[in-house]
Amino acid sequence: MSSTALVVLVGIFVLAVVLIVLPRIVRARRGPEVLVRRPTLPFPAASEPEPEPAPESEPEPAPESEPAPESEPAPESEPAPESEPAPESEPAPESASLRDRLGRTRSTFAGLLGTLRRTGGLTDDDWDELEETLLLADVGMATTEAVVAGVRERARRANADAATLPALLQAEIAERLTATAGDRSLRYAATGPTVWLMVGVNGVGKTTTTAKLAKRERGAGRRVLLAAADTFRAAAADQLATWADRLDCDLVRGQDGGDPGAVVFDAVDKAVARGLDLVIVDTAGRLHTKVNLMNELEKLKRIVERRPGALQEVLLVLDASTGQNGLTQAREFAQSVEITGVVLTKLDGTAKGGVVLAIEAEFGVPVKMVGLGEGADDLVTFDPDEFASALVG
Ligand code: GDP
Repeated sequence: MSSTALVVLVGIFVLAVVLIVLPRIVRARRGPEVLVRRPTLPFPAASEPEPEPAPESEPEPAPESEPAPESEPAPESEPAPESEPAPESEPAPESASLRDRLGRTRSTFAGLLGTLRRTGGLTDDDWDELEETLLLADVGMATTEAVVAGVRERARRANADAATLPALLQAEIAERLTATAGDRSLRYAATGPTVWLMVGVNGVGKTTTTAKLAKRERGAGRRVLLAAADTFRAAAADQLATWADRLDCDLVRGQDGGDPGAVVFDAVDKAVARGLDLVIVDTAGRLHTKVNLMNELEKLKRIVERRPGALQEVLLVLDASTGQNGLTQAREFAQSVEITGVVLTKLDGTAKGGVVLAIEAEFGVPVKMVGLGEGADDLVTFDPDEFASALVG
């Protein structure tokens, strides 16, 4: 082999070594490849696949050692700007309309209405079809029976024919919803900061709803602080941080796997110190056991209650598309913390919107807001008349 060929060979070898080794060195300097998913605009996205909670969070946090100002390590919090940002003056937009977004549940009722748009007396088939439609819309057996009985009674009194049944059904649904639940408005503290706790299992739309509420309240001129008390899912805190940035809200978040109680304590403390109006706490939706989760929620509630009058809402977030399964969740949460209202999300993509009736009938807790999409403005106050008319009107 000539010396030129040898030089070329050595050259190729050196080049190959450089090409293989160099990228590794660069990567090693950058540290491990961590894919931090920053939610995309306009709405921070979908929940991350749920990682198992970090092992160090396994042991029950030293139970009754609720965070005290002096001893508790201050959770990492986003520094608030020195001067408070001027509240946005834009009015709270409500872009989504119940009627437009209730499509799939509406179509469940459309079949029934089609058969009823005729004159003539009501037959057993009509009543069977009404019952079937309500069950399909996930109204649940007990509530369905009650609704059918109510409509039958109305029909008897009015000597109604098939064509008037939709109007009677609409009136029955609206009246039931009005009778079963109390005040649907969100409540605020008379003085000092208001605190709302958002509770619910993972994936129902808790973080998204927290952001939607923050947007709405910012639009109404309130100064809002978001507390990422789900310290077990870094993605949830990141999602909330993105929102806090965009909405010009303060944020308090803890160390990964840290004590959610410390986050809540710190959040309320900061809100008082800075004269903020509202703290919305996004809590964890899953711990190792349900018992842990419920204990943790009770603990968070007690921490907020150290400031009398601050805790104004414990909002259970339920995913409408899980239908009757949502009732099981509601039962479990209601046993541990006193729920003051329900936010029913994803009503836009489901045929199971009838679950609203079941929730209110069983719990007597008002559905205060409904989520009608993934957009920041897709959250509306729940209105029974509008809902009934959107279903059957
Ligand atoms: P969390 O685990 O309870 O905090 O749930 P996320 O807030 O991360 O939401 C889970 C998924 O549901 C995300 O993809 C959201 O965009 C979506 N989502 C939340 N609310 C609604 C809603 O009202 N309608 C629809 N269609 N999707 C929603």
